[in-house]
Amino acid sequence: MSPVSTKYSLVLHGGAGARAGRDYAEVEEHLLALERRGLSMLEAGESAVDVVEAMVRDMEATGFYVAGRGAAPNSAGHVELDASIMDGAHARAGGVAAIRDAAHPISVARAVMDHTPYLLLAGVGAEKFARSQKLDFIEDPTNYYRTPVGTTKEELTTEELCHGTVGAVACDRRGYLAAATSTGGLFGKPEGRIGDTPLVGIGTWADGQVAISCTGIGEAFIMAGGARRIADLMTLKGMGLADAVQHFLTDVKALRGDGGIIAVTGQGEIVCSYNSEGMKRAWGSQHRPAESRTFGTSENVYPAV
Ligand code: ASP
Repeated sequence: MSPVSTKYSLVLHGGAGARAGRDYAEVEEHLLALERRGLSMLEAGESAVDVVEAMVRDMEATGFYVAGRGAAPNSAGHVELDASIMDGAHARAGGVAAIRDAAHPISVARAVMDHTPYLLLAGVGAEKFARSQKLDFIEDPTNYYRTPVGTTKEELTTEELCHGTVGAVACDRRGYLAAATSTGGLFGKPEGRIGDTPLVGIGTWADGQVAISCTGIGEAFIMAGGARRIADLMTLKGMGLADAVQHFLTDVKALRGDGGIIAVTGQGEIVCSYNSEGMKRAWGSQHRPAESRTFGTSENVYPAV
């Protein structure tokens, strides 16, 4: 596939489960620093897929977000994690669902992409695969997980349909696109519940024109057709990225879902959009300094430079 752009860009999200009135200053500071680090990696010529994996690994490790260390336990008291990654330039992808004790579910998804002919591994099989790949596991789950920023310990187990996720989308210097998403899912979810995040084409999508990462009520995102539908609205209906994202989020709302989308195109267009109270997010590009927000306008749209 030939490059379509030499202008790099990067968008991050820390989930669309943010609630009005809560203080996310620590998260915004973290996202801003991470965005700057990711832009430096892209400036240095690193690939989009390596950068999105690195961004998500960092967010998984902090415990600030409902992913990795900040994930909420399910109704049986276990943390089960979902993640997926896609390398748009080479049409390769991998996902992992309901995995326990993996330190970095996104790297398990990456290993599924790089080292198997499959797209999605779940549960015990996913854990065995990750161990066979010598990927990191948590030694002491009882003391590892922490309450994410903006949430109380009680809410983690009592609130219904509260949620959070992390994600990254990037366009690198060659114009190659990639997307990655990782989550602890819905608070208090039943054992074995799997949302949109590990499903390639639903929670995560990247191809030659666009990279997309979703966050929100997974059931509604699946029913609405997921991230790939946004790409199809662009290709088959000729819609621009921002219109396609809005169209999709309207359908998500009609299906009783809230959430948000981050996306970049190979031409350097950036969109962050949400229909929930807030979405932790950061964006920047070769020509646009890094910024981060949680609230404010529910649609940040920057055209190709
Ligand atoms: N989409 C995630 C899920 O349903 C949750 C979120 O993005 O906040 O598991």
